[in-house]
Amino acid sequence: MLTETSVIRRRPVERREVLDLPVLVVNRHFAPVCVTTVRRAFVLLYGGAALALDERGDVHDFGGWSRVPVRVEDDALPTLQGALRVPRVLHLVRYDRVPRATVRLTRKNLMLRDQHQCQYCARRPAVRELNVDHVVPRCRGGRDTWENLVTSCRACNLKKGHRTPDEAGMGLLREPRVPRWTTAAHILLVSPAPFDEWGPFLAAG
Ligand SMILES: [Zn+2]
Repeated sequence: MLTETSVIRRRPVERREVLDLPVLVVNRHFAPVCVTTVRRAFVLLYGGAALALDERGDVHDFGGWSRVPVRVEDDALPTLQGALRVPRVLHLVRYDRVPRATVRLTRKNLMLRDQHQCQYCARRPAVRELNVDHVVPRCRGGRDTWENLVTSCRACNLKKGHRTPDEAGMGLLREPRVPRWTTAAHILLVSPAPFDEWGPFLAAG
Protein backbone atom coordinates (compact mmCIF):
# COMPACT_ATOMS: atom_id res chain seq x y z
CA MET A 1 0.00 0.00 0.00
CA LEU A 2 1.04 3.56 -0.50
CA THR A 3 1.48 4.72 3.06
CA GLU A 4 2.19 8.06 4.58
CA THR A 5 5.75 7.00 5.30
CA SER A 6 6.51 6.36 1.62
CA VAL A 7 6.27 10.09 1.03
CA ILE A 8 9.09 12.36 2.10
CA ARG A 9 7.93 14.81 4.75
CA ARG A 10 9.60 17.92 3.47
CA ARG A 11 6.64 20.27 3.26
CA PRO A 12 3.96 18.58 5.33
CA VAL A 13 1.33 21.31 5.13
CA GLU A 14 1.44 21.60 1.35
CA ARG A 15 1.53 17.85 0.94
CA ARG A 16 -1.59 17.50 3.05
CA GLU A 17 -3.31 20.03 0.82
CA VAL A 18 -2.33 18.09 -2.30
CA LEU A 19 -3.65 14.86 -0.76
CA ASP A 20 -7.02 16.56 -0.21
CA LEU A 21 -7.38 17.81 -3.80
CA PRO A 22 -10.40 16.40 -5.66
CA VAL A 23 -10.09 13.66 -8.27
CA LEU A 24 -12.97 12.76 -10.58
CA VAL A 25 -13.80 9.04 -10.62
CA VAL A 26 -15.39 7.60 -13.80
CA ASN A 27 -16.71 4.07 -14.31
CA ARG A 28 -15.52 1.64 -16.97
CA HIS A 29 -17.77 3.39 -19.51
CA PHE A 30 -16.24 6.73 -18.51
CA ALA A 31 -19.45 8.00 -16.91
CA PRO A 32 -18.84 10.13 -13.78
CA VAL A 33 -19.32 8.25 -10.52
CA CYS A 34 -18.12 10.60 -7.81
CA VAL A 35 -15.36 12.88 -6.64
CA THR A 36 -12.73 11.52 -4.31
CA THR A 37 -9.50 12.84 -2.78
CA VAL A 38 -5.95 12.41 -4.05
CA ARG A 39 -5.27 10.35 -0.93
CA ARG A 40 -8.06 7.87 -1.75
CA ALA A 41 -7.26 7.96 -5.47
CA PHE A 42 -3.72 6.73 -4.86
CA VAL A 43 -5.03 3.91 -2.65
CA LEU A 44 -7.31 2.78 -5.50
CA LEU A 45 -4.57 3.21 -8.09
CA TYR A 46 -1.93 1.43 -6.03
CA GLY A 47 -4.31 -1.42 -5.19
CA GLY A 48 -5.17 -1.94 -8.87
CA ALA A 49 -8.88 -1.07 -8.54
CA ALA A 50 -8.45 1.97 -10.75
CA LEU A 51 -6.29 3.35 -13.54
CA ALA A 52 -5.21 6.96 -13.92
CA LEU A 53 -6.04 8.88 -17.09
CA ASP A 54 -3.50 11.21 -18.62
CA GLU A 55 -4.20 14.29 -20.75
CA ARG A 56 -4.39 12.18 -23.93
CA GLY A 57 -6.94 9.79 -22.45
CA ASP A 58 -4.41 6.97 -22.06
CA VAL A 59 -4.83 4.85 -18.93
CA HIS A 60 -2.01 3.84 -16.60
CA ASP A 61 -1.64 1.47 -13.69
CA PHE A 62 0.38 2.66 -10.71
CA GLY A 63 3.70 1.54 -12.20
CA GLY A 64 3.01 3.26 -15.50
CA TRP A 65 1.67 6.37 -13.80
CA SER A 66 4.79 6.77 -11.68
CA ARG A 67 6.75 7.16 -14.95
CA VAL A 68 4.40 9.80 -16.41
CA PRO A 69 6.29 13.10 -16.38
CA VAL A 70 5.16 15.95 -14.12
CA ARG A 71 4.32 19.07 -16.13
CA VAL A 72 4.36 22.63 -14.78
CA GLU A 73 0.57 22.72 -14.53
CA ASP A 74 0.42 19.51 -12.49
CA ASP A 75 0.24 18.99 -8.77
CA ALA A 76 2.76 16.46 -7.58
CA LEU A 77 3.75 14.50 -4.52
CA PRO A 78 7.41 14.12 -3.62
CA THR A 79 8.35 10.44 -3.17
CA LEU A 80 11.61 8.57 -2.69
CA GLN A 81 11.52 7.70 -6.40
CA GLY A 82 10.95 11.32 -7.46
CA ALA A 83 7.91 13.52 -8.03
CA LEU A 84 4.64 11.65 -8.57
CA ARG A 85 2.06 13.42 -10.72
CA VAL A 86 -1.38 13.80 -9.13
CA PRO A 87 -4.11 12.35 -11.40
CA ARG A 88 -7.19 14.47 -12.18
CA VAL A 89 -9.35 11.60 -13.44
CA LEU A 90 -9.46 8.02 -12.21
CA HIS A 91 -10.95 5.15 -14.22
CA LEU A 92 -12.64 2.33 -12.30
CA VAL A 93 -11.94 -0.60 -14.59
CA ARG A 94 -14.37 -3.12 -13.09
CA TYR A 95 -17.21 -0.79 -12.14
CA ASP A 96 -19.93 -0.42 -14.74
CA ARG A 97 -22.86 0.91 -12.73
CA VAL A 98 -24.11 4.39 -13.29
CA PRO A 99 -24.89 5.54 -9.78
CA ARG A 100 -28.32 6.96 -9.28
CA ALA A 101 -28.02 10.62 -8.55
CA THR A 102 -29.70 10.64 -5.17
CA VAL A 103 -29.17 14.06 -3.72
CA ARG A 104 -28.93 14.19 0.06
CA LEU A 105 -31.35 16.52 1.76
CA THR A 106 -29.00 19.07 3.27
CA ARG A 107 -29.20 22.80 3.77
CA LYS A 108 -26.51 23.30 1.13
CA ASN A 109 -28.24 21.12 -1.49
CA LEU A 110 -31.59 22.73 -0.73
CA MET A 111 -30.13 26.17 -1.38
CA LEU A 112 -28.49 24.90 -4.56
CA ARG A 113 -31.87 23.58 -5.73
CA ASP A 114 -33.47 26.96 -5.01
CA GLN A 115 -30.49 28.79 -6.55
CA HIS A 116 -29.95 30.71 -3.31
CA GLN A 117 -33.15 32.58 -3.94
CA CYS A 118 -35.92 33.27 -1.41
CA GLN A 119 -38.85 31.25 -2.73
CA TYR A 120 -41.34 33.83 -1.44
CA CYS A 121 -39.95 37.24 -2.45
CA ALA A 122 -37.40 36.12 -5.11
CA ARG A 123 -34.58 38.08 -3.48
CA ARG A 124 -31.04 36.65 -3.36
CA PRO A 125 -29.51 37.95 -0.12
CA ALA A 126 -26.16 36.73 1.27
CA VAL A 127 -26.21 33.02 2.08
CA ARG A 128 -26.03 33.74 5.82
CA GLU A 129 -29.28 35.69 5.50
CA LEU A 130 -31.07 32.66 4.06
CA ASN A 131 -33.15 30.26 6.13
CA VAL A 132 -34.71 26.92 5.44
CA ASP A 133 -38.48 27.34 5.70
CA HIS A 134 -41.05 24.61 6.33
CA VAL A 135 -43.86 25.29 3.83
CA VAL A 136 -46.31 23.52 6.13
CA PRO A 137 -44.88 24.46 9.55
CA ARG A 138 -43.49 21.70 11.72
CA CYS A 139 -45.99 22.50 14.46
CA ARG A 140 -48.75 21.80 11.91
CA GLY A 141 -47.34 18.41 10.97
CA GLY A 142 -45.04 19.60 8.18
CA ARG A 143 -42.13 17.25 7.64
CA ASP A 144 -38.46 17.56 6.70
CA THR A 145 -38.80 16.61 3.03
CA TRP A 146 -37.69 18.12 -0.27
CA GLU A 147 -41.35 18.88 -0.98
CA ASN A 148 -41.91 20.74 2.30
CA LEU A 149 -38.67 22.71 2.60
CA VAL A 150 -37.74 25.85 0.70
CA THR A 151 -35.09 28.53 0.84
CA SER A 152 -36.40 31.72 2.39
CA CYS A 153 -34.97 35.05 3.46
CA ARG A 154 -35.21 35.99 7.13
CA ALA A 155 -37.84 38.64 6.53
CA CYS A 156 -40.19 36.27 4.71
CA ASN A 157 -39.52 33.56 7.27
CA LEU A 158 -40.55 35.90 10.09
CA LYS A 159 -43.55 37.29 8.21
CA LYS A 160 -44.86 33.81 7.43
CA GLY A 161 -44.45 32.58 11.00
CA HIS A 162 -46.39 29.45 11.84
CA ARG A 163 -48.77 29.80 8.91
CA THR A 164 -49.11 27.99 5.60
CA PRO A 165 -48.39 30.03 2.45
CA ASP A 166 -52.15 30.29 1.81
CA GLU A 167 -52.88 31.59 5.30
CA ALA A 168 -50.03 34.08 5.03
CA GLY A 169 -51.00 35.12 1.50
CA MET A 170 -47.46 34.30 0.33
CA GLY A 171 -47.04 32.38 -2.90
CA LEU A 172 -44.09 30.16 -3.76
CA LEU A 173 -41.94 30.88 -6.81
CA ARG A 174 -41.76 27.20 -7.69
CA GLU A 175 -43.29 24.04 -6.38
CA PRO A 176 -40.59 22.42 -4.23
CA ARG A 177 -39.51 19.03 -5.59
CA VAL A 178 -36.85 16.39 -5.20
CA PRO A 179 -33.96 17.56 -7.41
CA ARG A 180 -33.29 15.34 -10.42
CA TRP A 181 -29.65 16.18 -10.89
CA THR A 182 -27.42 13.84 -12.82
CA THR A 183 -24.24 12.82 -11.05
CA ALA A 184 -22.33 15.11 -13.43
CA ALA A 185 -24.58 18.07 -12.74
CA HIS A 186 -24.26 17.55 -9.01
CA ILE A 187 -20.46 17.36 -9.23
CA LEU A 188 -20.46 20.65 -11.15
CA LEU A 189 -22.78 22.27 -8.60
CA VAL A 190 -20.70 21.36 -5.57
CA SER A 191 -17.27 21.82 -7.20
CA PRO A 192 -17.49 25.24 -8.82
CA ALA A 193 -13.94 25.19 -10.22
CA PRO A 194 -13.25 21.69 -11.49
CA PHE A 195 -10.11 20.99 -13.48
CA ASP A 196 -10.14 21.27 -17.27
CA GLU A 197 -9.50 17.53 -17.44
CA TRP A 198 -12.94 16.88 -15.94
CA GLY A 199 -14.76 18.75 -18.71
CA PRO A 200 -15.25 15.96 -21.29
CA PHE A 201 -16.66 13.54 -18.68
CA LEU A 202 -19.05 15.98 -17.02
CA ALA A 203 -20.29 17.35 -20.35
CA ALA A 204 -21.16 13.82 -21.48
CA GLY A 205 -22.96 13.05 -18.22
ZN1 LIG B 1 -37.99 36.62 1.00
